[in-house]
Amino acid sequence: MIYTGNSKNLKIDPYEECPCDSGKKFKFCCYQEARKVKHNGYKTPDYSDSRINHMVHKTWEDTDFKVCLGFEKENCNGDIKNAHSLQNNRILNRISVNNHLYKFSFKVNKTGPVGYFQKISKNKASAFFGFCDYHDTELFKPIELHDYDNTELQNFLFAFRSHSLEYHLKLRKLEMQKEVFKLNPSMMLDESGVYVYKVAKLDVEDCAKNHEMFKIDYLNGDYSKIKTIHRKLDYEVPFATCTSFAVNKDLNGNIINDIYSTDEEDMPSVYLNVYPIENGTNIIISYHENDERFYKTYFTQLEQLDNDELTEYMNFLIIEYTENVFFNIDFIENLESKSKESLLESFQSSVNLLMKFDLIDTGNYYNFNLFQDVDQSSVSL
Ligand SMILES: [Zn+2]
Ligand SMILES: [Zn+2]
Repeated sequence: MIYTGNSKNLKIDPYEECPCDSGKKFKFCCYQEARKVKHNGYKTPDYSDSRINHMVHKTWEDTDFKVCLGFEKENCNGDIKNAHSLQNNRILNRISVNNHLYKFSFKVNKTGPVGYFQKISKNKASAFFGFCDYHDTELFKPIELHDYDNTELQNFLFAFRSHSLEYHLKLRKLEMQKEVFKLNPSMMLDESGVYVYKVAKLDVEDCAKNHEMFKIDYLNGDYSKIKTIHRKLDYEVPFATCTSFAVNKDLNGNIINDIYSTDEEDMPSVYLNVYPIENGTNIIISYHENDERFYKTYFTQLEQLDNDELTEYMNFLIIEYTENVFFNIDFIENLESKSKESLLESFQSSVNLLMKFDLIDTGNYYNFNLFQDVDQSSVSL
């Protein structure tokens, strides 16, 4: 999250609910403690980098939780599974090598987070505790058991699953920031800390609104409100993603959503899935009709792009907006070092302005192409 330092209201209101979840107002809860710590100066513990890294990752792991985001709760049945947002058999199999993939990850040390490509087991890729056994199996049958055919129901389900994954993630991020406040209460009086907290809270509220939208459509059996562009490429890309996010600017550079703002405005999402199939790749991008005033023009612009223009733009969009992207191991390992560095740093630059300027300066900003034919790229070695 980029804190640009020019946002308004970067304070926790005294009569706002305290971030510690006590149910009390901030003024009558953690405020005094926060002031005391701020006044005395927070002493950063002198831990080793590996201990800091371990602590941050442990805190993040602890935010994980199980929920079923399915509708008609009376049908919930079975354990909450670590369900895949990208299909294990159909999609992840296609990009994994010896059952492994790469994803973006961070090591955290005293100077902050440092990105790297982490090798993970295919079984852990893109999985989250967002559905009970029943809903995970039943709800998604039309996209799990059938090839994509651009039906309204399939488009609805792809969008809904991207939304659910992000909703779960956003709830965890809010929890993470609350943990940071517990560790260092003075952060509750710190602009950058409050900024992260407010954005996380607004993200969760936006997701909750979107969830209601999906729910109403689903209960009405009306899948026509998800507006979708589908493109099929005639080659297999070496990655897959399932994600949703609010787009900042349209293709002409006009602001769609002020994503850095902490004002309480709606921040509607687009839903994006890109994944390889046999001898091809599906790109499925959608928005909800209720958000037409935000996205109609943007989608018209996207529709007018030919495949080359669209993939060039997607190359940017995916890396700028999501961490839920999984790469073929050979693809990453065979990337020329400059492209590999560009991929990793362009990803990090979405939350690090200085890095972004550096990359632009050195001409290495988005200097890579994810939309390569996997076979071609391995043949060329
Ligand atoms: Zn409190
Ligand atoms: Zn359920």
